Amino acid sequence: MTLFQLIRNFVYRHWKAYAASACMLTGITILIAFIPRMIGAIIDALVAGRLAGSALLWQLAIPVGMGVVIYGLRVGWRLKLFAAAYQFGMELRTHLYTRLSLQGPAFYQQQRTGDLMALATNDIDAIEMAAGEAMLAGYDGSTTLLIVLSMMIWGVDWRLTLIALLPFPFMAVAFWLVSTRVHDAWRDSLNRFSRLNDHVQETLAGVRTLRALGLEQRSAAQFATLAEDAAASSLSAQRWEAAYEPAVGITLTCSAALTLSLGGYLVWHGELSIGALTSFSMYLGQLIWPAFAAGWVLSLIERGKAAWKRLQPILSEPLAIDDAGALATLRPGNLVLDAVSYTYPGQAHAALDHVSLTLAPGKTLGLVGATGAGKSTLLRLILRQYEQQSGTLRWSGHALQEYKLAILRQAISWVPQESFLFSATIADNIALAKPNASRADIENVARLAAVHDDIMRLPKGYDTLVGERGITLSGGQRQRVAIARALLADSPLLLLDDALSAVDTGTEAQILQHLQDLRRAQSGRSVVIVSHRLSSVADADQIVVLRNGKIVESGTHQNLLAEQGWYASQWQYQQLEESLDAL
Ligand code: ADP
Repeated sequence: MTLFQLIRNFVYRHWKAYAASACMLTGITILIAFIPRMIGAIIDALVAGRLAGSALLWQLAIPVGMGVVIYGLRVGWRLKLFAAAYQFGMELRTHLYTRLSLQGPAFYQQQRTGDLMALATNDIDAIEMAAGEAMLAGYDGSTTLLIVLSMMIWGVDWRLTLIALLPFPFMAVAFWLVSTRVHDAWRDSLNRFSRLNDHVQETLAGVRTLRALGLEQRSAAQFATLAEDAAASSLSAQRWEAAYEPAVGITLTCSAALTLSLGGYLVWHGELSIGALTSFSMYLGQLIWPAFAAGWVLSLIERGKAAWKRLQPILSEPLAIDDAGALATLRPGNLVLDAVSYTYPGQAHAALDHVSLTLAPGKTLGLVGATGAGKSTLLRLILRQYEQQSGTLRWSGHALQEYKLAILRQAISWVPQESFLFSATIADNIALAKPNASRADIENVARLAAVHDDIMRLPKGYDTLVGERGITLSGGQRQRVAIARALLADSPLLLLDDALSAVDTGTEAQILQHLQDLRRAQSGRSVVIVSHRLSSVADADQIVVLRNGKIVESGTHQNLLAEQGWYASQWQYQQLEESLDAL
């Protein structure tokens, strides 16, 4: 879809607002076009001595009254048109936001956050202006041109009009020369603004690391260079725009000179009245607006086109995961993985290679193995963040793809190693999936996640603000808040992806015990625990050891110890490490 098609579709849906603006603008143009004729007639009447006293005042009152009407119409079209243009911007932003929220991790791996933020702000602003100001100026400029030219030809003198238009091709050439340059300059300017945004976003996200490494000055210098580049490229776009304006000035001055020469000659020979020549000069002055409007529209449209070229690929990027499933309920049953394989794009080796396992309702599965073995990938496939390339994942007898994505994700509580805390109170952060939860429920899950006491020590307890605008919690506290959040969601499947890595062993054991008690009380919930600490999975009903994406050992803790494989040796090593730590 081109920018014009996009704007046309929008104008089609909001034709009433655009039609009302167009009517008011046409009204203004017609009124303005009549004023020079009236003034011309008044001058001629004055010269002929036909107008004096109160009659003159009455004649002058008409243009003044028209001025008041023009003022009202100007306010009216602005209100109508800008309301429509803001609506356009809002619709585009909402569309972009919805697409972004449906994209998966693979998309975000290719995109930079700063770039996406620039699209949502700067680029959409540019498109909004192309649909608002540019449409208006384009319409107003062309109707003014048509009406004023008609008044010049039929209302005054066609010979004068012909002479006055002689220098205009010069302006057209300037317009043509500037147009392509303005497009390239605006595209460059938008790209550079994106780069600047990326830098700011990364710097703010990594501000602690930069400070710790003493890199603030280097980062500030990089920022200054990027800001200079962005300013220089915006200036370059403006410079091309500015190059067009003198061409307008020169053209109109030449027109005025030619008009006065021929006009003077005609007046001298009695073929034209002084009033008509005055009207013509005023009309010529009115052509300044269409000439400038052409340059302005050109710049706005080229900027909008450059922005749309950047935005469109993001909007049309296919969603990594299709949401074509129809099942709207998910009754907990066996979760079965059958010969599931997955290779990340561009990777030579499979992250998961023919993995088969079954998780029954109410059971706990421990997933262990060295870093890079494929544990997180397995959880991401269950969450449908990625789609397996072969094999099937079925839950309660249905392939995961058969469920609506939202239903599947609601049925799973996933706690990654690094959970995000939003800028809200700690109670709101826990109640993220259940905003109506009572304070008693929130406190209950916080106790189960062994974080209640920590929260009570905060300045305002559960009402303490956390996240970017609040206090910073320690890694272990954040992980426990995330577990409380997952427990409150009360989903039939809980996925803990190294979610207790920053919690000490004693607290971890306490949380796992709570989880086990809870599972016994509500027998339906299954849990998958991914952990580097084998003690976290020792009580699981089944433990699976992954290596290079394949299951290499599987069984209960006792079975695996007896197998004397990776699990048994790792267990002994970790036990030894723990006893040394205790000394
Ligand atoms: P684990 O959770 O066991 O540490 P992962 O599932 O994260 O392992 O990773 C399995 C393999 O897939 C590793 O070789 C890792 O390098 C690779 N991998 C993980 N995430 C990505 C990614 N986003 N893009 C490419 N390769 C990845």
